[in-house]
Amino acid sequence: MGLSKTIWANPVEVIRNKQPDHPVLVFSPAVLQATAHRFIKGFPGLVTYAVKSNPEEMVIENLVAAGVRGFDVASPAEIEMISRLAPGAAMHYHNPVRSRAEIAYAVEMNVKTWSVDSISELEKLIELVPAQGREISVRFKLPVNGAAYNFGAKFGATAELAAVLLSRAAAAGFIPSLTFHPGTQCTDPAAWDTYIRTAAEICQNAGVQAHRLNVGGGFPNHRTQGPAPELEAIFALIDRVTGEAFGENRPALVCEPGRGLVGDAFSHVTRVKAVRDGVHVFLNDGVYGGLAELPLVGNIDRIDVYSPEGLRRERNADPRIVFGPTCDSVDRLPGEVPLPADLQEGDFVVFRGMGAYSTATNTRFNGFGQLEIVTALSLGA
Ligand SMILES: *Cc1c(COP(=O)(O)O)cnc(C)c1O
Repeated sequence: MGLSKTIWANPVEVIRNKQPDHPVLVFSPAVLQATAHRFIKGFPGLVTYAVKSNPEEMVIENLVAAGVRGFDVASPAEIEMISRLAPGAAMHYHNPVRSRAEIAYAVEMNVKTWSVDSISELEKLIELVPAQGREISVRFKLPVNGAAYNFGAKFGATAELAAVLLSRAAAAGFIPSLTFHPGTQCTDPAAWDTYIRTAAEICQNAGVQAHRLNVGGGFPNHRTQGPAPELEAIFALIDRVTGEAFGENRPALVCEPGRGLVGDAFSHVTRVKAVRDGVHVFLNDGVYGGLAELPLVGNIDRIDVYSPEGLRRERNADPRIVFGPTCDSVDRLPGEVPLPADLQEGDFVVFRGMGAYSTATNTRFNGFGQLEIVTALSLGA
């Protein structure tokens, strides 16, 4: 997946000049840094980046350049990379289940903040992590809707258990904090409202003042046509509700966006391999490649189609069944995808907003997945 040294003007220039027959993700560092500035300026607390959403080193480096000083890490490999690329940055080890060897490594690498959602894993941390100056953030969950993909199915204590964990962590000498994740691509800000008010109740029930409240990732990126999600409105709501719910005991806020930070900084250039008997569209990438997430989170409909000469196909939505290149029948985009009626074999289909969960989950299944990343000044036409 090497990075070419050329900086293209935009994805259309990549198409015109390279005619790539393999999938290409076009990365705009300028877009990434602008989004990072939006978060840093607008979010009323510390902005950390969830590394798993796109762990490309050039993404980390551009976030550091833009002023991001904290990272949500989930594994020794992510801890090693952040220590190398962002020395001195805060590392929040927010994978609530870890082996003893992983815990020992993170202690050695000076990780100061850990999340937990169960008694067994809290006892492991108490045994293996020196409490002095270390923070334990209890992760809790609620049956709240609003996100495209529910994160509560795997992690998060109930509010009752969270109160128990919070007081146990405080009694063991750790700095007690709370954290939640409202679910990825959360377009309904009301989810944060409910979570923040519950966080205040958990503190009250535990008789513990939370040092910090981490309001998770979940910030949406621009995946469907129509206006882009208003991050600033979500930031303002988080600020207001935290004040209302906690009053004088207001904790410092932290967020850990993945998708919301990196999603709009990449466009994905795929190519039409065939239009089988004029009906089914076969692309050179699919659910085993850069489009892995679409069946989970829903289609992106911010799609532009170009001829090999880089001319835009007219956009009269003709819903098509779209398959990926492998021989597996699940390798299909969900439902039907609106594509221009004059789409032809050899055309390029560009999916916007593809920066999150695309590079990292690409596989080489069936001999495909030769995903290249190139850089561009802008992602506009
Ligand atoms: C994946 C993850 C995130 C990022 O989620 P997005 O929906 O991409 O913002 C943040 N925090 C934790 C603990 C995660 O596991």
